[in-house]
Amino acid sequence: MQTGRVTVAMDALPELDDVLGRAHVVSVPLVTRFRGVDRREAVLLNGPAGWSEFAPFAEYDDAEASTWLAAALNFGWRESRATRLRESIPVNATLPAVPLAQIVEVLSLFGECRTVKIKVAERGETLADDVARVREARRLLGPAGRIRLDANGAWTVDEAEHAVRTLEQFDLEYVEQPCATVPELAELRRRIHRIDVLVAADESVRKASDPLAVARADAADLLVIKAAPLGGIDRALALVAEAGLPAVVSSALDTSVGLAMGAELAARLPVLDYDCGLGTAALLADDVVAATLRPVTGAVSAGRIAADPDALLRLAADPERTAWWRERLARCHTLLAGAAQTRELSPLRPEAGERASPTGLSTSAGP
Ligand SMILES: [Mg+2]
Repeated sequence: MQTGRVTVAMDALPELDDVLGRAHVVSVPLVTRFRGVDRREAVLLNGPAGWSEFAPFAEYDDAEASTWLAAALNFGWRESRATRLRESIPVNATLPAVPLAQIVEVLSLFGECRTVKIKVAERGETLADDVARVREARRLLGPAGRIRLDANGAWTVDEAEHAVRTLEQFDLEYVEQPCATVPELAELRRRIHRIDVLVAADESVRKASDPLAVARADAADLLVIKAAPLGGIDRALALVAEAGLPAVVSSALDTSVGLAMGAELAARLPVLDYDCGLGTAALLADDVVAATLRPVTGAVSAGRIAADPDALLRLAADPERTAWWRERLARCHTLLAGAAQTRELSPLRPEAGERASPTGLSTSAGP
């Protein structure tokens, strides 16, 4: 599957044979179904600078996935140019759309997090289901806890406005990607400006052809950023600097190795006022490292983490899935090599005549 254009070029792209020679494909069980899957597949890369992870979701096309590969290679083959400013990253607990009776159990996986992100607007559910879940989470957290919602773009502007006005009683920190598009986010923000609930953009940043459009359109109060879909730590930092908005670093249900890349990004953000979405190792039933990067008293540590050889064996994907991932990685590598040949990477300067963004991303990414 390959529908989009190449998303990002890399300087000093490592050879494909080198990359494949360092690759381990794993399938990690989850404690609960999330994003419609109960196992998370990933390619772990034993890079010269440290362990790295390539794990774009299966449905992403090669153009989109190639940006994730650029991030994985940047992290595994070199050090970030930015200075690490903190060692400890405060994180939120993540509550998927589980039945009410399971909420206590899921939240307990995260330990003592003061912030909970609740998935809302899940397909097949109603606003009443969301109200019940948010109410229960607020009851468990107490009044001092922070609650943020993530709708993954599922609401129309009217639905989002109604949901925010209904759920506002539970004291919300922000609602993440309430609607799908930048104009809708901007419209919602205008409609709820009297309410003390912020709007955060996630998919509108990481899946957009222009990740800065949100900032320019005044469509969000803060950005959710993920290192992998933005091409790596340094590009994500450049994007945040250019956008001039507060940022929350989040993960994509990565293993602890992938989470470490997010933690290293969060450790380098000049300002980190919001708890990050990097506690999701708690949702893994097993992990590729000896000591999983689970939140301890509401925070995770920054720093590289090495995969554990026993875990890589235990979690090795079957031959068919291994071949699928290696072929996918090879196709993405070809796209990155082509991008490197056709133009010089210019992280902060869009090229004339091209829909390039200030992060060097240039894509026809999906919805
Ligand atoms: Mg999100």
